[in-house]
Amino acid sequence: MIDHGTIDRIIDAAHISDVVSDFVTLRKRGVNQLGLCPFHNEKTPSFTVSPAKGIFKCFGCGKGGNSVNFIMEHESLSYPEALKWLAKKFNIEVKEEEETEEQKQLKDARESLMIVSGYAQKYFTRFLWEENEGRTIGLSYFRERSFRDDILKKFEVGFAPDGKTPFTEAAQKQGYKIEFLEKTGLTIKRDNWMRDRFAGRVMFPIHNLAGRVTAFGGRTLTTDKKIAKYLNSPESEIYHKSRVLYGLFQAKREMSRTDKCYLVEGYTDVLSMHQSGIENVVASSGTALTPDQIRLVKRFTPNITIIYDGDQAGIKASLRGIDLVLEEGMNVKVLLLPDGEDPDSFAKKMGATGYLEYIKKNETDFIQFKTRLLLKSTENDPIAKARLITDVIGSVAVIPDTITRSVYIKECSRLLGVDEQILYTEVRKQKFKQSADFQKKELREQARKPVAPKPQVSSTAPQLTRMIIEEKEFLRFMVKHCKTELFEVEDEETKETHMITVGEFMVDELEGDDLVSENKMFQKIFYEIRDNLENKDFDPWKHFIYHQESQVSKFATDLVSEKHQESRRWKKSGAFTEDEADILDILIPRIVNEYKLRKIKLMMMEIEKAIDKVAANTDFDKIIELQSTYMNLKRAEKELSENLGSRTIN
Ligand SMILES: [Zn+2]
Repeated sequence: MIDHGTIDRIIDAAHISDVVSDFVTLRKRGVNQLGLCPFHNEKTPSFTVSPAKGIFKCFGCGKGGNSVNFIMEHESLSYPEALKWLAKKFNIEVKEEEETEEQKQLKDARESLMIVSGYAQKYFTRFLWEENEGRTIGLSYFRERSFRDDILKKFEVGFAPDGKTPFTEAAQKQGYKIEFLEKTGLTIKRDNWMRDRFAGRVMFPIHNLAGRVTAFGGRTLTTDKKIAKYLNSPESEIYHKSRVLYGLFQAKREMSRTDKCYLVEGYTDVLSMHQSGIENVVASSGTALTPDQIRLVKRFTPNITIIYDGDQAGIKASLRGIDLVLEEGMNVKVLLLPDGEDPDSFAKKMGATGYLEYIKKNETDFIQFKTRLLLKSTENDPIAKARLITDVIGSVAVIPDTITRSVYIKECSRLLGVDEQILYTEVRKQKFKQSADFQKKELREQARKPVAPKPQVSSTAPQLTRMIIEEKEFLRFMVKHCKTELFEVEDEETKETHMITVGEFMVDELEGDDLVSENKMFQKIFYEIRDNLENKDFDPWKHFIYHQESQVSKFATDLVSEKHQESRRWKKSGAFTEDEADILDILIPRIVNEYKLRKIKLMMMEIEKAIDKVAANTDFDKIIELQSTYMNLKRAEKELSENLGSRTIN
């Protein structure tokens, strides 16, 4: 246990802005600071830090709390662990008791994997510096490549001893369980046979954003062609390759300060650039960039420069992946190194000043770069040139921002010698194609799913032919905020909590109460969203605005343009003055309830009419049935009205 005095000192030292800004780039907004939420995926910042109150609050997903809560949440730590984490950051001494056998066998598997990885890093590092084998093989490799000791220590590189299981044995002797050694991939285990995965390799630990080791890359020093040069840890509970960038932990502060990120390919490229003094650099470790990795960079800066080796092989192939980066709305530049150079060799040759000067002079905008590169191979070939235009415009068309897009069109028009209007037409065509491809994919997925059960609909009163305001409002929020995390809910059976999204909440509420509108347009949108709740690539906005059925697309567009009028409604009600996205946890249940209340009132009207009609025939059973339904609706109406407060809907 940590004593109260120490806890107080930790909390006093851990100012919320200092803690959060390790992970999120914050910009001043009045007395508060604003950034992109690290807990949910968002494009516009709704994550707010109040230094005065010492708290953070995300108006997108609802997460909030103090600096200890932030670390608990972000690093998946328990309360005492988060305190220790902060104590370390702010140099506050915490007396740690000797780790007992039980503590080593922590219940939390994730934490156990982290602990094992941390132990392995320390073991490999010690081995590199202190053991004969480590020094003569591992350290001399780094020294030959003229890496300085401070850089090797900064990245905590190491060496895994050669042999069958020297590392595994050492770890087991220290009490680390084989289960976790195996899960982290450090040990490969078959029925009655084991070996160290990284034996004889120099080790590059991969850190998460908080600086804890979650995985390794190991480079072999043998020249045997049959052995893979680089070997990485397998995917585990703490390591997902597609969500990690090598060097981000060491680069994030500088990325945020310089508002720029350099992307290179390998571990040693990152080390060399640090050594030359350029620290805002990360590596994709040889894999194609993933959207998750791009979002990681975007948390710290929207500006990325991709550095390519001098030899051009492979550049064309990698161009396509960059469209993903453009799609995220980032500013992408490309730097081509001189022939025969790679980021590692070039950094060593140039030093920081020379390198940065070279970058400044030679980095080109991605679209320009792509255009020029492709132009070279299309001279005097009109067909190839037409293909090139389509290709370049394909990249322009994915850029989300209209103004940026028009700047590029101007530039491309100049470079390609093609009229701007023609390029605009091409962009429109491509955007249409992109949405059509999207549609086709959707349709294919739809086709694979079982047919949705027909909703039970009752009669059709005349007032149902047009969509009422509550229905529109319901759909507008559903389309706009469908994927936003709303709040935590508890599973009735397992008592476990999980985040529910706006879409899930809205679907559950209406289907659960069997209150889905009879309106055809409403049903179309509602069920298409419902059937895509699990679809990660589903963008309801794009889906409906570019819907194949023009009626749907027109309706969705109207829904969007009605925004301001609708927001005033919320303000007029006196309850809210904030942006609707900031208060979804309040708004959504309210909108659902207003919808239900209106729906129930309509159903009651229908029943009243039905009772009148039946009464004439004196069918008592039928009347009793209708009246009991009516009473149920009345009860629901009363409850909803009370929930909604004094505001009444007629
Ligand atoms: Zn959030």
